[in-house]
Amino acid sequence: MQKNTKHVKYCLLGYGYASLVAYHKLALTHKKEDILILKNKTSSSIFTIEHNGEDFSPLPIYPVEESTLYSSSLFKSIPKQDPIKVSFSPLENFNLNNIKASKDSLASFMINKQGIDRNLCLGLKQWGKSMLQQPLSQVQYKIAKHYMSSSGNTRLGYVNGKSLYKYAVDQLNPNEWLYNSIEHIDVEKKEVHLNNSIIRYDTLLSTIPLHNLLHYCGLEQDHNTACASALFYFFTYDSGFKENQMIYDCDYTSATTRIFSVKDNFLLAQLGGQSRGKVTPETVKKRVEQLVPNIIDLHFAKELFVEMAYPLETVSGVKTQQSIEIVKQNAIMPFGRFGNWEYSDLHELDWKSIDNSSSTLTKAQLP
Ligand SMILES: Cc1cc2nc3c(=O)[nH]c(=O)nc-3n(C[C@H](O)[C@H](O)[C@H](O)COP(=O)(O)OP(=O)(O)OC[C@H]3O[C@@H](n4cnc5c(N)ncnc54)[C@H](O)[C@@H]3O)c2cc1C
Repeated sequence: MQKNTKHVKYCLLGYGYASLVAYHKLALTHKKEDILILKNKTSSSIFTIEHNGEDFSPLPIYPVEESTLYSSSLFKSIPKQDPIKVSFSPLENFNLNNIKASKDSLASFMINKQGIDRNLCLGLKQWGKSMLQQPLSQVQYKIAKHYMSSSGNTRLGYVNGKSLYKYAVDQLNPNEWLYNSIEHIDVEKKEVHLNNSIIRYDTLLSTIPLHNLLHYCGLEQDHNTACASALFYFFTYDSGFKENQMIYDCDYTSATTRIFSVKDNFLLAQLGGQSRGKVTPETVKKRVEQLVPNIIDLHFAKELFVEMAYPLETVSGVKTQQSIEIVKQNAIMPFGRFGNWEYSDLHELDWKSIDNSSSTLTKAQLP
């Protein structure tokens, strides 16, 4: 059976924050009908989950006040919010002298650059023992960017359990195209072949994981696709821990890395993904009660496992590099944390590349 074919100037593949913010950027200079975002009918959003009739944000997506993204028009009519309050529990049960780190490992990098054992304790809980041997180069890059840069990094808190990003993208009302599965991408013809239709594009922006994109394009790849997962336990409580507080848990014997409150009566505890099935909610509950002694009537609510939370190694490998060149030369732009396979936050993405792709195309079409 002949499939429906649709032609658009901009096609966005991936339905996360990176695509939605890119959509907003493009919509500033293009007609709405020129931009289409593909949405998988079956995938559920991880950015708002529901508990007992209430929606809240499961991931800490805090805009950075000093960023150009936060001062952009996307946030113009969004509620203002105060910065989150961050604190650290005392460093306990951790002896730096017991750490044997290989040269070039993430642990060596942290010891050399930071000399702060609190961060090493938290790093080991988040990344596991692999950080003693492997570079985890994306994490090194993130630390260098984040914590050693002089530009401000004020994280703005949630409003009523919602990230400000969520408020912003909820207003977009994007032009969507629903599908069940992607069959392949024809790089030369500039077509995305879906189960139900073919989308012909001038430019394709892709925020899906880089290895998935290259696979759909039928291109070779040889980069390290290892990623770290994250486990979240959610708790309700009556009082004792105001919204937008974050406590890093620096007891090495506790599996929890941090807790943060998205509301006055709802908090998340984050653990490294390796704790899944090994650390019970009851154990984490006891630890939360130690970290927040005034908390009243704490109850476990639900669990969320995010399999692909943090890309770990920088994209290298000749085949992947060649494939990236090929897609770029054929008007496909990999974008975002997973599209570029980098440990970045939203405000760190190269949003200019979206503006540039838009202006290049506009110029090329002028008579
Ligand atoms: C614990 C944690 C804390 C974080 N804190 C912050 C923070 O404070 N500030 C901040 O800016 N960022 C933060 N981030 C990062 C933030 O979550 C990401 O930058 C952002 O959500 C990435 O959005 P994205 O659109 O690039 O990816 P995603 O939202 O993952 O979107 C990718 C899309 O690709 C689709 N997809 C995946 N595989 C396929 C496939 N094979 N075929 C088709 N489609 C596919 C998915 O369904 C999804 O729609 C945090 C992340 C984590 C895990």
